[in-house]
Amino acid sequence: MGKSSAPGSAAGVDNTARRTWDKEEFAERAEKREQEAAEAEETALDIKKRKRLERDPLHQGLIVERSNLKVRDYQIDLTSRVGRSQVIGLNTPLSQQAGYYCSVCDCVLRDSQSYLDHINGKYHNRALGMSMAVEKSTVEQVKARLQQHKQKASTSNPEEYLPDGIDRRIAEAEAAEERERAERKRAKKEAKRAAEEGEGEEGDPDMMAMMGFGGFGTSRK
Ligand SMILES: [Zn+2]
Repeated sequence: MGKSSAPGSAAGVDNTARRTWDKEEFAERAEKREQEAAEAEETALDIKKRKRLERDPLHQGLIVERSNLKVRDYQIDLTSRVGRSQVIGLNTPLSQQAGYYCSVCDCVLRDSQSYLDHINGKYHNRALGMSMAVEKSTVEQVKARLQQHKQKASTSNPEEYLPDGIDRRIAEAEAAEERERAERKRAKKEAKRAAEEGEGEEGDPDMMAMMGFGGFGTSRK
């Protein structure tokens, strides 16, 4: 592309001089490339917007009006997969990839914070046919709700209405642990007794060791 390297002469190409470039032409090309990149970027955003509209029942003509924001009627499960290992490949579907999957919007959020932000967010709730507007409560409603909570606190188990019932789950885990401990103790005791009984009858130390080790499933009464 050099100006000075004019080909065609019989003596060959003059490549001894420093080559020069048509700066204007290249500036034009760079500009064009940047413009194209900007357009491509806009398309990605357009795709996002289009998908949002496709999920929105109002835009799809399924509803006439968005309802007010309603209270969630299910428990959010943020911890069930904590500490689990999972193999993720190239072809793993989105719903089984690492993170929190939103089946409504078909997207994965990488941590619980952004997942909560997402399910409490505008576009997710729009996809569910709700706007972010909240019904205005009257004084009577507030009073009734306070009364309801007061009654609940005095009558029922306080663990029950913790938002995610974490205390209940801790209690369950502790109870399970306690059961396991008792079971182990019982098995040990039984094994010991079996060993004592066995000494007189058979005196087979290997058999006793096996029974003591297993603890369960022996036909002994
Ligand atoms: Zn969502």
